Amino acid sequence: MEDQVLAGVDQPVVIASFQRERFYRQEAHRYLRIADRTEQVYVLAAPETDFANRSDRYETIAFDKTDALAQEWHLVVVSAHYAACLICRERQVYTAPGESSLHLPPDQSRRFEGIWTFERSVACKAAELLLTKVVLYRPELVDKVSAAQTVLVDNAQASFSHVDPGPFAERLVTYIQAGQYKLLKAYRSIAAQEQRERLVNSITSAIRRSLDPDEIFKVAVQELGQALDACRCLIYRCRATDVTVTLQHESLNQGVESLIGQRWNLADNSLFQWVAQHQEPLCMPHTPADVWLLGQEEVAVPTEQMQRWAIKAWLMVPVVHQNRLLGMVEVHHCGDTAHDWHESNVGLIEAIANQIGVALIQAEAYANLEDLNQQLAALDRTRSNLIAITGHELRTPLSTIQVCLESLSTEPDMPEELRQVMLSTALTDAERMRKLIQDFLTLSQLESGRIQWHLEPLPLQECVDLALSSLRSRQMDGTLPEITAQVSPELPLIQSDGEWVVEVLSKLLDNACKFTEPTGKVLIQAQPNGGKMLEVTVSDTGRGIESNRLETVFDRFYQEEGALRRSTGGTGLGLAICRQIVAGLGGRIWAESAGKDRGSQFHLTLPISPSEKEEKPIKTVRGSKARR
Ligand code: ADP
Repeated sequence: MEDQVLAGVDQPVVIASFQRERFYRQEAHRYLRIADRTEQVYVLAAPETDFANRSDRYETIAFDKTDALAQEWHLVVVSAHYAACLICRERQVYTAPGESSLHLPPDQSRRFEGIWTFERSVACKAAELLLTKVVLYRPELVDKVSAAQTVLVDNAQASFSHVDPGPFAERLVTYIQAGQYKLLKAYRSIAAQEQRERLVNSITSAIRRSLDPDEIFKVAVQELGQALDACRCLIYRCRATDVTVTLQHESLNQGVESLIGQRWNLADNSLFQWVAQHQEPLCMPHTPADVWLLGQEEVAVPTEQMQRWAIKAWLMVPVVHQNRLLGMVEVHHCGDTAHDWHESNVGLIEAIANQIGVALIQAEAYANLEDLNQQLAALDRTRSNLIAITGHELRTPLSTIQVCLESLSTEPDMPEELRQVMLSTALTDAERMRKLIQDFLTLSQLESGRIQWHLEPLPLQECVDLALSSLRSRQMDGTLPEITAQVSPELPLIQSDGEWVVEVLSKLLDNACKFTEPTGKVLIQAQPNGGKMLEVTVSDTGRGIESNRLETVFDRFYQEEGALRRSTGGTGLGLAICRQIVAGLGGRIWAESAGKDRGSQFHLTLPISPSEKEEKPIKTVRGSKARR
């Protein structure tokens, strides 16, 4: 009804009566606006704070709390062309004897009964009664009220057909339209929510079905591309520091060029860098300029990349877990039409990126578990091998030693010659046992990482000489193959721990001699490998190694014949020890062979001393671990 006044053109009499000042306060702003339209505005209310009789922009009338008006609520509008009124009385609630009937129940539970009508005679009568109350409380307004009454009397006979409900109807239509629009919006958001949940569900079930990130990416990129009807959608794994990534998962709209197999530039793409740094989605609309203003920041647009792949608008959403960038979801718009990214789509992609993040972390955890399982299996194998080898290696020599010593002690008349044989057999086997225990302890120490490396500039030649003399002193019987060393004293110094280098060389030379006939040859050479390493090679003309065993020989306890059928002696730990030492010294060791009976070459690299260019040999190698 008030809207009718605001939308209308004539000057009606408006009378509003409120039960309490606070109900009036909620509406007060309307009466200020109505007062701009007409001078005949009267507002009545029972005062609570500062509501009083006043003539301001409109008339306010403070009636007594005991007045019957305190139980009523009225709104009356009468003009030359229309009339309307609302007359309400509050339904009485039960009041206990002695309790004031003026006490109002809480607003939500109050009930009214009354009428709302456009009947002119009713509205005029209501206005008349209310104006009488106005004069009663504010006699000074008698003249103004008479003017109002004239309006009522002059138009009392006007028929209802003169009422123009137009403005009111227009307002009503607008109100209903606004309601419909809100409903439509709500439906749209429910539909978007449903689509989002369906997508997220299908990706979540893909994650449940598989721990393979590739399979998950395949499902996610297809579903997402379809849901967004994107020209191009990409998902890839990456780290913030990656320079490029090879693309493997994509969904495309017809006519858009594929990026599969392409090396996708990340380091030079300022959009990627921005996302990696802020770990937030980036939505670049169609931007013809070279520089794009993102908040306060200016971001260089990768125009070359965009032109090459016909990208017009670009959306990037990071896959992040605990502040670590794990991957990226990209959506490209390639059409000529301008494109802006819808907020709900960004939300959808973010939800999917979260799921992908979870999948990647799960896959990573699974891979770690696999690794651990493999390590456990390797440990178990080692344990079994250890039991087997120690069972054989330790029990056999121990039995021999026992038999020899028993014979020596029980047969005092044993000929001197036999006595010597017994003693030397016992000693040889004791030495074999000592070596096995020694190797096993050395390997355990190396594998535990408790070794302190003493790195210093050293001449390699000295290490080779020490290893050779140690070998010769152990093989006094002269059954060794011919050994040649081609290690120039002019070679650059190595930055290494001499004792461990001698240990490695001794083991390699031992093996070369062990697996080569005395008529064969062993050669040790060294030469610079690139600018930073020296490469040492121990070659022999012996029994060689099958190509599929070139890596396995470095496994702990690997022996070609198997631990229990060995003829050459040794523990099967030598090369495993060498690999640990060389890795600890910062180099690499590997084996080469042309095949069975065609000789073997063992190569190892050691770092060249950084001081090499300034000074010449300053250190001598202290001795060999093998001899300790
Ligand atoms: P061990 O020599 O005590 O058996 P290693 O770890 O030193 O143990 O060597 C492991 C295995 O690798 C050997 O048993 C042998 O089968 C093979 N191997 C090592 N060096 C050579 C070589 N120079 N020529 C042929 N086979 C070799």
